[in-house]
Amino acid sequence: MTLALTTNPYAGYTYGYPHKTAYRRLDPPAELAPLWATEDRSNLFGYVHLPFCEMRCGFCNLFTTANPHDDLVGRYLEALEREARATAEIIHPATPARYAIGGGTPTYLPPAELARLLEVFPRVFGRAVAEVPTSIETSPATATPERTTLLADAGVRRISIGIQSMDLAEVHRIGRRQRDDEVRGALDTLRTLGPPVLNIDLMYGLPDQTPDTWLATLREALRWHPEEVFAYPLYVRPLTGLDHVGASPTDMRPELYRLGRDLLLAEGYEQTSMRRFRRRGIEEVDDEYACQSDGMVGLGCGARSYTRELHYSREYAVGRRGVKAIIDDYVNLTDADLRVARHGFRLDADERMRRFVLQSLLHIDGLDVEACRATTGADPETLPLDRLVADGLATRTAGRVQLTPDGLALSDAIGPMLYSARVTDLSRDHDLR
Ligand code: SF4
Repeated sequence: MTLALTTNPYAGYTYGYPHKTAYRRLDPPAELAPLWATEDRSNLFGYVHLPFCEMRCGFCNLFTTANPHDDLVGRYLEALEREARATAEIIHPATPARYAIGGGTPTYLPPAELARLLEVFPRVFGRAVAEVPTSIETSPATATPERTTLLADAGVRRISIGIQSMDLAEVHRIGRRQRDDEVRGALDTLRTLGPPVLNIDLMYGLPDQTPDTWLATLREALRWHPEEVFAYPLYVRPLTGLDHVGASPTDMRPELYRLGRDLLLAEGYEQTSMRRFRRRGIEEVDDEYACQSDGMVGLGCGARSYTRELHYSREYAVGRRGVKAIIDDYVNLTDADLRVARHGFRLDADERMRRFVLQSLLHIDGLDVEACRATTGADPETLPLDRLVADGLATRTAGRVQLTPDGLALSDAIGPMLYSARVTDLSRDHDLR
């Protein structure tokens, strides 16, 4: 019997490995300067996390909090700049080769504070956002003309807006306050004043969503000709608003996925992963970064950093109290604290290999088996790649394993199959707060 017939296609949202729920207190803590000294820093990703939003959506388990006190936002930006300075010294003479500003909703910041944040990059790292590929996230309520112009003028190349659905009843059912005029106004603003690349995040499997409403959402969103569309299946995850009210996704997710994919392909988009669709013929904003092997420096709580042998971050929480406690700790960290990792996950060769396989296989380009072996020092053939091929979910040609369309559709079931027992156990036993 095939994997397709035996497995729940929505086992878990797979986008990185290992998930932060597998991170634990590091004993002893890791000094960051010696850790980074031996890393290849030639192609670093710089990620900045702003854990603030104007609302807390019912499906969201990202590290963020709604409507914090102004004082906390100001103190957070101060701590972020101190962490950026410490990081710049630690990775010197390297600087990030690209930036992403996410959250949360970075454009929750008032324009003056957003400008202040953008100025940190050239002042601390010596590279302005205009000098490297830079992407930022926004929301309908905060993508105002003033902020959008500021971002475009600063040279941000890609902006991503979470809309989820153009059907107001549907978005309200997932705990998202969103107004029609606000959504359309924001999309008009982003298209006329914003950075050159627009991504729209949409979601399928919402309670009571139907094929007609899902397709109507997609068609409506395409009126703004986004360069990219991310289509996410709904998951109800622990401690989220939807979890509290016992909501569940519609069981039509596989059908909605296929309908959405087919419509996007017919409308001139190409699929690069289960969720990502890119308009044919446009240039990649950043096609140099190899997520399987290049490092990442994260700034702010909620941000992860990746070296070859250690992934680290601040602690992770979803509930309001847990998130607030972690942000309070962060803004009070001393400069010495910012040079030490206390929470993370150590990767041996087997874990590095699993990560490489996951990041490659779930992308349309697939897995280069030999490159994986050479980069990680472990053999990817110990994973059930042959079973994927036998089940018709992958093909194997000239040393490369690539998911078929059926395999891509099952990415969220295939991902967890590739986790180690250690990661599975740690994530299951994580005490979420
Ligand atoms: S989905 Fe986006 S806007 Fe909603 S709470 Fe999460 S980060 Fe904030």
